[in-house]
Amino acid sequence: MRRLADRVEAELEPLAVLEARNAGKPIGSARGEIVMVADVLRYYSGAPERLTGETIPVAGGQGFTIREPMGVVGLITPWNFPLAIASWKLGPALAAGNTVVLKPAELTPLTALRLEALALEAGLPEGVLNVVAGPGKSAGARLVEHPDVAKIAFTGSTAVGRSIARTAAESIKRVTLELGGKSANVIFADADLEAAAAAAPWAVFDNAGQDCCARSRILVQADVVDDFLALLQPHVESIRTGDPLDPDTQMGPLISAGHREKVASYVGPDAPIAFQGQVPDGPGYWFPPTVLCPVLRDDRSVREEIFGPVAAVIPFRDEAEAIALANDTIYGLSGSIWTRDGGRALRVARAVQTGVLSINSNSSVRVTTPFGGFKQSGYGRELGPHATDAYTEVKTIYYATGSA
Ligand code: NAD
Repeated sequence: MRRLADRVEAELEPLAVLEARNAGKPIGSARGEIVMVADVLRYYSGAPERLTGETIPVAGGQGFTIREPMGVVGLITPWNFPLAIASWKLGPALAAGNTVVLKPAELTPLTALRLEALALEAGLPEGVLNVVAGPGKSAGARLVEHPDVAKIAFTGSTAVGRSIARTAAESIKRVTLELGGKSANVIFADADLEAAAAAAPWAVFDNAGQDCCARSRILVQADVVDDFLALLQPHVESIRTGDPLDPDTQMGPLISAGHREKVASYVGPDAPIAFQGQVPDGPGYWFPPTVLCPVLRDDRSVREEIFGPVAAVIPFRDEAEAIALANDTIYGLSGSIWTRDGGRALRVARAVQTGVLSINSNSSVRVTTPFGGFKQSGYGRELGPHATDAYTEVKTIYYATGSA
């Protein structure tokens, strides 16, 4: 795994260009994602030494536990962060001693296929990391049904996650699910509003909004909504959209024509558009970064995951209403709180039902901390020191000592 991390780093530029072309993402973002792949592989290369058990005294003997690999693990991944998300699963799965079949999203198979070749070059035994590209309904579904696959680690939409859990229930196959989100960015009146307004666009328009952690509900304390919108507008209007391979590009196009159609359905002719950014003429499934305000709290754009560059600004009166609004969703993946009041930051952080929450920051995903969802954003945690737990079974061994 360390040698594979080295190979990935040595191929940083070609892999980043391949990922940028694979998903239409800005080259700067693609580079960051490939660096993360190497970091994840290196982090989990140390995990085998930490796969320890416990010794537990029991009557008449000694109990102890060991962690065993599950066998063949199926990894099913989405198109938004293709190789990075694959690495979050590959790292702990391989470190725990499993073999894997990785099925990348049909729209973005290229970097996964390249990684498979690099793994062989790095000396991973043949058959340990297998990439099977193909559609979800055939290749993905077959993996979920297959009797020799012990576990499925899935990242994707809540609808597909639900169907995978249903199928896996037949054979009690182990499943972990990283699903959709509709996260809140909660901005209190006492926050550093300039910093919050500068960060808010990248909390939702990063990766053209095709980000499960997108904080697409911007909750702003009512007394500062106008000030906040005035600060936000120039940041949104100056987002540089364009050729993903141009190093100055900050936001690329959407993944497909069909996806653009879906995103556009949330911004119809009557949509309350406060302001929008620019998109280039010419080819590409472009959609401008868009801020909606004022919105009805039950509007589709507030309730459903859009997975595109569309944010809704929603006012709240006080802390209690901010918490109630943040939790008024079927999802619970991520979120942010902006305030200068440390006590309030911690109170709200504890009350919001979400897997990751950042204070005065957009941060969601770090190699060394757990990531995953509450509610319909899924179950199980990736990254961090405990991710290997999800790729092992605990076995208890009892050793009779003959004593009473
Ligand atoms: P998707 O659910 O359509 O597809 C994800 C993967 O599942 C693809 O590889 C697809 O081929 C496969 N698949 C589709 N149908 C299948 C089936 N019946 N059986 C087995 N596999 C099947 O999701 P997407 O459109 O690729 O990605 C967008 C979604 O992913 C969004 O909802 C987003 O929030 C979510 N996502 C979540 C996280 C997270 O960590 N929580 C991260 C990224 C994306």
